[in-house]
Amino acid sequence: MGAYLSIHINTLQGKVALVTGAASGIGRATALLFASEGAAVVALDRAPDVEATVAAIRSSGGRGSALVGDSSVEDIVAGAVALAVKEFGSLDVCYANAGISGGMVPFFEETAERWTQVLQINLIGTFLAAKHAALVMVPQQRGSIICTASVAGLRSGAGGMPYSASKAGVISLVQTAANQLSGTGIRINAICPGLIETGMTRPIFEQARARGSERKIGQLNPLRRAGVPAEIAQMALFLASDAASYVNGQAIAVDGGLSTSHPIVIRRE
Ligand code: NAD
Repeated sequence: MGAYLSIHINTLQGKVALVTGAASGIGRATALLFASEGAAVVALDRAPDVEATVAAIRSSGGRGSALVGDSSVEDIVAGAVALAVKEFGSLDVCYANAGISGGMVPFFEETAERWTQVLQINLIGTFLAAKHAALVMVPQQRGSIICTASVAGLRSGAGGMPYSASKAGVISLVQTAANQLSGTGIRINAICPGLIETGMTRPIFEQARARGSERKIGQLNPLRRAGVPAEIAQMALFLASDAASYVNGQAIAVDGGLSTSHPIVIRRE
């Protein structure tokens, strides 16, 4: 699969990146890819496994620093940005990726508490990372901020209500922030992944494997499969790099084409 074919040309040589949610899944894959492309990486996650991500970076000869903390708390996010500047001298890339699913809860069982928790982590935490990264990037007159939204933020059918609303909010956030940051040289974009096998979605894959119905997972996708974290990391790498110098304020789906279609009945082969 193409995701595993990665040619390293030091795309991010000399750059410093912060990645939130870097202990697992998409964040971990991106932190490893950024480091392998020459970036020094500050990896933030509330899960202590983030130390393992940085250990893997260092054992491959890269530079990284781990921080265990909650990315929805402003002081923690500000501290992560300050750590990047203190240890590595600047902040060029911020990937605000940490998120939770909140589960698939029926409409009438949803609660204000769950909405608040999901929005706090997925949307407000993303805003805080963008804000504190931009505070450092404005004097530099350059920087790339990347946020993980989701195809769930484009329309219904890929997550619970607060999750989908939080991801639609992230898409709106990058549009408004791109304009608020007008003239600063900072770019901000969102990635909208389709279904990717990660810690978040592991139960879906494990249940399907247990039932022997794994093939059905991707049946509505034009590529007939789910994605892997490295495929999202490649888009994050592009957006982080100078190759994306004119890409700003966009929500880019990396979903195998899933979001291009209305539901259809697939003809049996
Ligand atoms: P994951 O569970 O493997 O990784 C998410 C990481 O974020 C975990 O390490 C978790 O500890 C961390 N995290 C969660 N809340 C945090 C907080 N408050 N503070 C610090 N760290 C926190 O899942 P993933 O799929 O890699 O998720 C990454 C992002 O991708 C999320 O924003 C998710 O919504 C988004 N996404 C995932 C999919 C998918 O199919 N997996 C699809 C679309 C979007």
